[in-house]
Amino acid sequence: MEVNPRLTSPKEVRALLEKLGHRPNKGLGQNFLIDANILDIIANTAEIQPDESVLEIGPGLGALTERIIPKAASVTCIEKDPTMVAYLKSRFSGFSLIESDALDVDLDALFAGGISKVAANLPYSVASRLMVDIAECEHRPVLMALTIQKEVADRLVSPPGNKRYGVLSILTGVFYKNTRVKKISPTCFLPPPKVWSAVVRMECRAVSLLGSAEYPVFKNLVKSCFSQRRKQIGTILKKLGVVPVDALLTEAGIEHTERPEQIEIERWVALARLL
Ligand code: SAM
Repeated sequence: MEVNPRLTSPKEVRALLEKLGHRPNKGLGQNFLIDANILDIIANTAEIQPDESVLEIGPGLGALTERIIPKAASVTCIEKDPTMVAYLKSRFSGFSLIESDALDVDLDALFAGGISKVAANLPYSVASRLMVDIAECEHRPVLMALTIQKEVADRLVSPPGNKRYGVLSILTGVFYKNTRVKKISPTCFLPPPKVWSAVVRMECRAVSLLGSAEYPVFKNLVKSCFSQRRKQIGTILKKLGVVPVDALLTEAGIEHTERPEQIEIERWVALARLL
């Protein structure tokens, strides 16, 4: 019987890729995790219970998949690369595989169908977009354990009063409490990426800071203001044609002279509710 290659052995992963005739695709962010400790940290951060259904985006060769299948009641994976899809099908059973670009999948329908957790080493080019898309889902998952670029992780978890605080921290922060779990060196991947990475934990708030009906105005406000983040909020709102700026700002507890990055999520919510 042929033994499956160990996905935490650089030598065996290299040989497997060669056997598949596959060169890691940079455009698809194919940096495969080969560090068992980091893979265990992601799988454990998701706190998967035996009755839970889990989504993995970008399973690649399956290094994380093989850790979550035994923990969960069901695992659904979305993978864009046909070579990875064929290999995953040949190696694993007892999971569902959607061959698609994750951006084209109706994620909310998957969550509505009972998937409550996400564990993934996300493709970095679409990571921010996916985190916001998932946070915006009506049936958003209760917990996500994700590997993303460290610089994006810093923005995700940043508090106000910091240049990293912005649209990503705020739009996800309305629905999730975000924390950084572990920094990851490029040497934990094959091939190593140019940047450091990080595991993050996104825990859904018991009560969102904003209702879904109010969210579109809020999102529009935050995005418009952060596109001019160096200006004072009073000046930005006047330029956007908001009236009466001073009265609205006072009611929301915001000083005319504050910059967008000084305003906590709760005060953005208060301001959006007044508009
Ligand atoms: N989970 C594997 C691991 O940790 O070794 C692979 C992670 S690799 C960073 C990202 C994976 O996402 C690759 O397998 C890539 O083919 C896949 N991918 C890239 N863009 C995608 C997209 N838009 N939708 C679905 N999968 C995508």
